[in-house]
Amino acid sequence: MTRDKPAAGICGACRRLAPDGHHLCPLCADDVRGWLAEIPGQVVLLAEALAPAGAPGQGRGGSGRAHSPLPVDVRALVLLGPGHAGPVGDPGDDTDTTVPIGPFLAAWAGVIAYGYPSVGWHPDRDPAATLYVLPCDRAVPRHGQTITHWCAWLTAYVPYAVTLPAAAELHRQLGALLRRIRRITHTEPRTHPREAPCPACQTYRLVSVDGQDRITCKACGHSLTPAEYDQHTAALLSSLDKDRQTA
Ligand SMILES: [Zn+2]
Ligand SMILES: [Zn+2]
Repeated sequence: MTRDKPAAGICGACRRLAPDGHHLCPLCADDVRGWLAEIPGQVVLLAEALAPAGAPGQGRGGSGRAHSPLPVDVRALVLLGPGHAGPVGDPGDDTDTTVPIGPFLAAWAGVIAYGYPSVGWHPDRDPAATLYVLPCDRAVPRHGQTITHWCAWLTAYVPYAVTLPAAAELHRQLGALLRRIRRITHTEPRTHPREAPCPACQTYRLVSVDGQDRITCKACGHSLTPAEYDQHTAALLSSLDKDRQTA
């Protein structure tokens, strides 16, 4: 079910170094978190795309018809559908681009839960947990199986998912899904330029992206946690201060 199994310690998505035993680097793991955070809002936009306001009846001359065809965006309809198309979300199956979002996420939760140690979160052991796996081969979001809950479930399991060889495939498929959704909703997550230069390449191309923790360099791909960025800017400011005092 996995192709091209990456060596542990190398990111299977971008081939950068990953922490020992991880198959995604922190940057690509952050992609996954960001995409999962983006999906619930995108679902709202997709639902709106189902019936574009004021869209005409696509030139069918529908005036006077009792049941004129709805101006539905079929691509959005497919993505929001409840359907199951065979072994959806199977890490080896990237042929079906019509898999709806809900079954896609549920199938990936199943893949992750299958490998999750049975000593993990369990409602009896940890009643406060918002998510649990019961038994270890079945994923169940505690508050129901909506797309939002699947996103929350998967987000909670990202730290575990990155240790699975399938993580690179999750990254690839989720990225492809988001590109497909964004083409329909005409949206991109907002990026915010940061003030400090990149500590790796010194260009002023550092940005934060909505939904993602890490700050990344658009020029060289270097990334920092917010804490590392704060340290970096503090160090820059103090060196500027020193320069000023000695000038
Ligand atoms: Zn990576
Ligand atoms: Zn850089």
